[in-house]
Amino acid sequence: MRHAFRRLGDLWLGTAPAQRLRLRQTTLAMALMALCAPVLHYFVLIAHGERNGLLWLWTGLSVGGMVLFYACIRSGHSCRFADPSLTAVQIAFAITSAAFGYALAGPLRGAVFPVLTLILMFGMFQLRARSAYALSFFGLGLFGAVMATMALRHPDRYPPAVELGHFLMLACMLPAVAVLTARMSVIRQRLARQREELARALAQLQVIATRDELTGLPNRRQMQALMDQELLRAQRHPHAFCIAVIDLDHFKRINDDHGHAAGDAVLRAFAQTGQATLRATDVLARWGGEEFLVLLPETRLALARAGMQRLHERLAELRVDPGAGAPLGVSASVGLTEHRPGETLDQTLARADRLLYQAKTEGRGRTCSDAGPAEDRIVRLA
Ligand code: GH3
Ligand code: MG
Ligand code: MG
Repeated sequence: MRHAFRRLGDLWLGTAPAQRLRLRQTTLAMALMALCAPVLHYFVLIAHGERNGLLWLWTGLSVGGMVLFYACIRSGHSCRFADPSLTAVQIAFAITSAAFGYALAGPLRGAVFPVLTLILMFGMFQLRARSAYALSFFGLGLFGAVMATMALRHPDRYPPAVELGHFLMLACMLPAVAVLTARMSVIRQRLARQREELARALAQLQVIATRDELTGLPNRRQMQALMDQELLRAQRHPHAFCIAVIDLDHFKRINDDHGHAAGDAVLRAFAQTGQATLRATDVLARWGGEEFLVLLPETRLALARAGMQRLHERLAELRVDPGAGAPLGVSASVGLTEHRPGETLDQTLARADRLLYQAKTEGRGRTCSDAGPAEDRIVRLA
């Protein structure tokens, strides 16, 4: 049953959230118009004892007009206008309908005023201050014209003194509603601004939480999350992936001889070279200090070895300006290993660390890797 209602709702309002909101408002306005029509028929019956052609014309135009608004929004036609909800146009239309309803209503016409306020209240959700004032003056002008015409043509049923009283009441009421709408508009704008600022702050926080400030690379926390994800994927759909631990060689010396700023410049240059050299799917992260980690998803050891070799070659060409003095060369030692099915990330990382130590002791500026897991334990990638 609930499902059927939801389907009916989707059919009537569509599924896009912004569109649904617009159509909800228009449906409410349409319902209001549909409820007001029989009431006006009742007013006319009391005044004249019968329903006249003008009343039927009013009913057809008013209800038909609202149906047209619904169709225009529902079909997406209104999206080509500055305000796809057509709020101002709908309000202007409803004010016009109310003004002519006032001319038909006879002795009970005072009941139109609360409806007029209700119509203007629809603007509180959407209108800017200027449109709210314009609509309130449009309403005042139109009602003034209708009241004057009726007072001149039917002074017996619309006595001029009574119409003047009605007009004065409207002259107080309509601008007041416009002032309230204008205030709401300011509050809405402030809220929208705050929401934007919050979204921007959140995006900034996300960068701070996941990126290393100096190099712009993913930080340790982000890398841990990415490796956890890769491990999960490998467990679900068995595939190989490799991890490399990289440590810059004699980095302390760079700091000691050329200063901390030169050390920072080397770290940044290394990060840039590493990112440019590795494949787009590989992730280079700053693990801490002058230690970096590479995650090579869906990669066998032989291919990873070739990648690291490329990195050594590019590093050999790299020269970093220390600020003063001759450009600095950069070299790094790498411990590379392939994850073995069934083992934890810590076990893989510990093996990569041991291999890094081996690379350091064997003379630095090189990659040490193990033999990799036995071939028969790996499900080959297609
Ligand atoms: P090895 O070849 O054995 O790795 O020698 P090393 O000098 O690189 O070894 P060690 O790990 O002892 O030195 C790391 C140095 O990195 C120590 C620390 O001052 C420096 N360091 C860590 N983080 C930063 C940083 O963010 N900026 C700078 N400039 N230096 C850093
Ligand atoms: Mg180190
Ligand atoms: Mg080092």
